[in-house]
Amino acid sequence: MNNYSIEEIRKIVREVLLEMQAETFSIGISNRHIHLTEEHFSILFPNESIEPLKPLKQPGEFASKQTVTLVGPKGEIKKVRILGPLRKRSQVEISKTDARNLGVQPPIRLSGHLDDAIEITIRSDAAELTIPAAIIAKRHIHLNYQDMERLNLKEGQVVSVEIFEGARRGIFNDVELRPGENFVLEMHVDTDEANGADIQPNTRGRIIRE
Ligand SMILES: [Zn+2]
Repeated sequence: MNNYSIEEIRKIVREVLLEMQAETFSIGISNRHIHLTEEHFSILFPNESIEPLKPLKQPGEFASKQTVTLVGPKGEIKKVRILGPLRKRSQVEISKTDARNLGVQPPIRLSGHLDDAIEITIRSDAAELTIPAAIIAKRHIHLNYQDMERLNLKEGQVVSVEIFEGARRGIFNDVELRPGENFVLEMHVDTDEANGADIQPNTRGRIIRE
């Protein structure tokens, strides 16, 4: 066996750690939220415009000051945040726990896949709308094309992500990639998934190589 000096071993360990760190990413916890079309927004908030409250990590996206109440056959959830900017389709993203409390059973779908989204009632002080817009968001990784190349991933690939720190370590299978020109590398899970794996705002994950 080679005799490495402590200095040499330190250097190798440092390089390996850096390499491993470059392959990790932060995990964003998506609380329940809704996206609205211009038309639906103006029904719920007549004479108002959507007002940014705080920017999200993905460029251009923001949490707005406006909130709504979600109403289902078994319950209501108040203060559900509207995310901006306004979109071409309205979409309500809730967790499985929320769905149970509301008494609805939305499918688990990637954002934008609304063919079988279920009906939900959205209420503001001014109006109430019932539209087929509710899904439970499928976990996914946002990334740009440089990230994809660096991490050696292909469009359409489904990956497994290891949560390697915290008190409830584990592996999430069936994680979809959402590449986009301006996306910042980040995995998105909902609050049920985050609680299940004890994911905190600073928890990081990494893709498992088979
Ligand atoms: Zn996302």
